[in-house]
Amino acid sequence: MCGIVGYVGQKTALPILLDGLKRLEYRGYDSAGFALFSGSNFLIKRNAGPVEGLADISEDLGKTEHLGIAHTRWATHGAPTEINAHPHRAGEIVLVHNGIIENYSQIKERLMKHGAQFSSQTDTEVFAQLIEHHRKLLTNKTPKENPESIILAALKTSMSEVEGHYAILLMSQTVPGKIFGIQNGAPLVVSKLKDGCLIASDIQAIIPYHNEVCFLPQGEIFIIDSGDIHCKNMHFEKIDWSADKVEKDGFESFMLKEVFQQPLVVADSLSGRLPIDSKAPFIWDHQKSHEVLWKNAKRLYLIACGTSFHAAMTAKYFFERWAKIDCQVDIASEFRYRDPIFEPGTVVGVISQSGETADTLAALRLANAAGVSTFSICNVKNSTISRESGFQYPTKAGPEIGVASTKAFTSQLTILCALALDIGRLRGINQSGENSDLSFHALARLPHDLDRILKQSEIFINMGATLKDQRIILFVGRGTMYPIALEGALKFKELTYLPSEGFAAGELKHGPIAYIDKDVSIVVLAPKDEWYAKTISNLEEIRARGGHIIAIGTEGDTETSKVANEFIGLPEAAWGTQPILSVIPLQLLAYGCAKALGRNIDKPRNLAKSVTVE
Ligand code: GLU
Repeated sequence: MCGIVGYVGQKTALPILLDGLKRLEYRGYDSAGFALFSGSNFLIKRNAGPVEGLADISEDLGKTEHLGIAHTRWATHGAPTEINAHPHRAGEIVLVHNGIIENYSQIKERLMKHGAQFSSQTDTEVFAQLIEHHRKLLTNKTPKENPESIILAALKTSMSEVEGHYAILLMSQTVPGKIFGIQNGAPLVVSKLKDGCLIASDIQAIIPYHNEVCFLPQGEIFIIDSGDIHCKNMHFEKIDWSADKVEKDGFESFMLKEVFQQPLVVADSLSGRLPIDSKAPFIWDHQKSHEVLWKNAKRLYLIACGTSFHAAMTAKYFFERWAKIDCQVDIASEFRYRDPIFEPGTVVGVISQSGETADTLAALRLANAAGVSTFSICNVKNSTISRESGFQYPTKAGPEIGVASTKAFTSQLTILCALALDIGRLRGINQSGENSDLSFHALARLPHDLDRILKQSEIFINMGATLKDQRIILFVGRGTMYPIALEGALKFKELTYLPSEGFAAGELKHGPIAYIDKDVSIVVLAPKDEWYAKTISNLEEIRARGGHIIAIGTEGDTETSKVANEFIGLPEAAWGTQPILSVIPLQLLAYGCAKALGRNIDKPRNLAKSVTVE
């Protein structure tokens, strides 16, 4: 989590740092701070609350400094207060940090025995003091050594002592004009500009300035100065996202813009991949090895967290039905700590919007270490997960800024749908590529169907607003609508903070039905699929207990609309595309309710977008 920015060059650093923090605020926004260095003294400002507050208190500052580091925090250790905000200073050095130092309390105890005093509760300050401790020891031992070598040595020793994962930037009064850093399990990208060097946690803070970036290698100490980046094993890449893709374009929130971008990003994700006819293969970036991989696959694990996990759950239905592959889904933070069976023919697929999700990355590494084939479905092409996975089936949703994921989810589902369909064809299960569940024609029509649903957006938003005083909102569905119900409940809790839960409709009577009375609203996903009759029976059970039913079904379904209190009809669709279509009203219901409650849509409390802590 958290956003880090650093700049050194000809320009005044502060505006660039603040602009970068604003663009990275989706990564963490409970407090923020910066440190500027003029060559003699640090100027440090920190503030509890969003970056905006920091900009306000720094209005007349930073007119002359050309070197600085900045941070927007997502607290892990210590409350989001000014004292705990980064940067943290220790003696001659100042540091910003993304991640967690797991053994911080042992190190803290040790340093306190040497007389160190701590002003914050953060693990970050412990890291800063540890580096400073070693810097001082080394300076006393080898006073003639140049200060840069001393910092490098102090960083190396500190790295060998800390456990956890981190990205840090550091400035030292003993080495003016330079920023030191390490990326060790948390991302940093750097770019060489005409007038200096810019470094950040994510390309979104860099693309307005330059589109060529370098993803720094893990575990290497690097130094940047106004002319260059000094690091081993660097390679630069051009990024095809443009700066205007990270603007709101007249929408009142990024989330709303992203909801409306779904027809386009689904089309982009499919573009160039759809087969020419129903017997032909889908087109992937690595066609031959893709075919070998899937012809020999015996078991598939799909691993993810949060919304991406719901995409994995939905895809299980596709892979089992169309490709006849034993497909198990798991939450990354569970998968990595159990003892999954890896046998010849096991394939592990990981799904992550950012490609930096710490638990998902750890699960991928576990699979890679076991020697099985791996693939990723990521939205950020050069992310760590993309780079470390054997195969990539990238989504092309573009930058997703709203913390509650929308377009990344529908893009993931689109790719998973196409993949499972193609693998079925490849394995001879569905030779024609055509069946009643899905054809590539239905996939090609998806952007158009999404557009039609979005035309009704006002209805969903207004209906969402009517839910603002509910005690609890329940979401139920069967088959592929079950994970979509879970996703609906997740969107609702993320955005509105109201209690909301999703269930398999058949599970209602095994417990959750106890919730139901006249003050409870239940969103029932009831498309005309093979489980329709059963879902309608569940709907009747809810009605018998007085629950307020919002049914999302198929256009023209008079039976459901009679039983439900409110009914939303979606275009008739193939079974395979129904989940992608059905999630749209759920996103907008959550949005409408959150808006009516005055919530911060793009930055819901306590959340952050790129979950780089475990
Ligand atoms: N663990 C550090 C803290 O709580 C860094 C958190 C972050 O990545 O924002 O301050």
